Amino acid sequence: MIVDFKYGDRCWELETYRTYQEKEAIICSMGEVNEESLDKILCIFKFPKKEIKNLSLDEKLAILYKYREISIGEKLDLTYTCKKCGRVEPFTIDATIIEEPLGNEYKKYFKDQYKNINDKNFESFLDPSINVDDLDLDFYQVLKNEIKNNVCSFNFIKKINCPVCKTENLINLRNISFCVKSLTEDSVANFFQTYNDMVYYGHYSKLDIDSMYPYERKILKDLLSRTIEEINKKRQEQNESILRQRKNAQRRH
Ligand SMILES: [Zn+2]
Repeated sequence: MIVDFKYGDRCWELETYRTYQEKEAIICSMGEVNEESLDKILCIFKFPKKEIKNLSLDEKLAILYKYREISIGEKLDLTYTCKKCGRVEPFTIDATIIEEPLGNEYKKYFKDQYKNINDKNFESFLDPSINVDDLDLDFYQVLKNEIKNNVCSFNFIKKINCPVCKTENLINLRNISFCVKSLTEDSVANFFQTYNDMVYYGHYSKLDIDSMYPYERKILKDLLSRTIEEINKKRQEQNESILRQRKNAQRRH
């Protein structure tokens, strides 16, 4: 499945990742993770390599959360400790990062950069034809405010209401390690258990499994577990019935 991911004036074609890519991403996430790990994972997901260096950290995170959404689903399970009462609760949050709309009459003066603006980097947002020293002070302020309010940004903050004390907790998904961990719902050990079960009981080849989408693998694995359970139950019933017959036969002798 290919999905267009749009924000500001940008649009990327993102393709659902497959099991072998998910596994490679987990391996990347073992040990220390940093922005470079995000670059590596974007490469694994076949994001255009030459574009990666032009992305801000926020963009990389938003793109990876989008990859996750189209490959696993938008619902993300996590446990959270309430900052007020200390209660630890499992939560399911929506991991879609909402981007703010862009576009107004001043847009021609600046370019979208998808990063936070501050005094130091203000100039880098301006159209190259504009010289900051030539701007009059009022217009400088107007422009700065317009940029602040109108460059495209991502909303990584999610609200979680504590079920016990009703306090609103904020969780910030602008976190490299959290983002990388969210790309899979399986541990490495789990992954190999899945390969084993699906090859041994389900007669899939490793190549079949590797080319599955993560959500597809999960459905097939759940169905397989159910089939195995039913087979075991039937076998047990058969064994019990054979035992009963034997006992009855012994009694008659
Ligand atoms: Zn609480």
